[in-house]
Amino acid sequence: MTTVKELETYAQNTWCPGCGNFGILSSIKKVLADLKEEGLDLSKVVLASGIGCHAKIVDYVKVNSFYSIHGRVPPPITGIKLANPELVVIGHAGDGDAYGEGIEHLIFSAKRNINVTFIVHNNRVYGLTTGQFTPTSPSGFKGRSTPGGSPEDPLNPIELMLSAGAGFVARGFAGKPKHLQRLMKAGIKHQGFAFIDVLQPCFTFYNTYDFYNQRVYELTEGEYDSSDREAAFARAGEWAYGEGERIPIGIFYQVERPTYDEKLLKGRIPGKLKPGNIRSILEKHI
Ligand code: SF4
Repeated sequence: MTTVKELETYAQNTWCPGCGNFGILSSIKKVLADLKEEGLDLSKVVLASGIGCHAKIVDYVKVNSFYSIHGRVPPPITGIKLANPELVVIGHAGDGDAYGEGIEHLIFSAKRNINVTFIVHNNRVYGLTTGQFTPTSPSGFKGRSTPGGSPEDPLNPIELMLSAGAGFVARGFAGKPKHLQRLMKAGIKHQGFAFIDVLQPCFTFYNTYDFYNQRVYELTEGEYDSSDREAAFARAGEWAYGEGERIPIGIFYQVERPTYDEKLLKGRIPGKLKPGNIRSILEKHI
């Protein structure tokens, strides 16, 4: 039986004690261990990350990994998937990454429907740079760059992804790892762009554990039809990343449609390049 222990690395974990990233890390490891039991070849899994506290996750899971640059996780994971469609590609990004610096890449990934999973560690603050506001910080947020309180209203990434055409749109909470694991597993199995926004308290600069624990509730199967786009928008609007009494978590929307990689490659698997091949391609084209 595969255990999460087998997915541990020698890297020393440098997240602050109590960080919500731990819930995301333990969840992705558990999900990969479970999927291995179901037949997934872990040598075909690639994790990629951007820049920020979240990014260290790729050091802490023993699978293939790729460190990207700030906000630019979607382009490399698109390239990885197109270069080798057999790979299971999972991108991790922070909220500053995904909804600030790289928002255009995120929108086009959803629009194209590239067959990858994209997990946002949304702590609603720039933690690594010690507490500046991000696109999902609430109005009035006081941090290093907004000592008088942010005058901006937050972005709602669930509504954004629904509008952009994502076929799998979900929200999890790092404080509910079992629920988060179900979302991750469903996202990885989904054929198409699977977007998961994870509410991830930053224990040091924006501790939201109590806030979320008092407000989150699960969208449960049977009572909620995740194929209904209008219903998804209605639930997405229930909480606008500011104040609010109830915060839905779960799969807001899931439908499958042809993926970008399927349409572009039309069943062709690009040949595995050897150094000699690369030289001949370069000589031909340069
Ligand atoms: Fe986690 Fe915040 Fe510490 Fe970064 S600064 S490791 S997000 S608690």
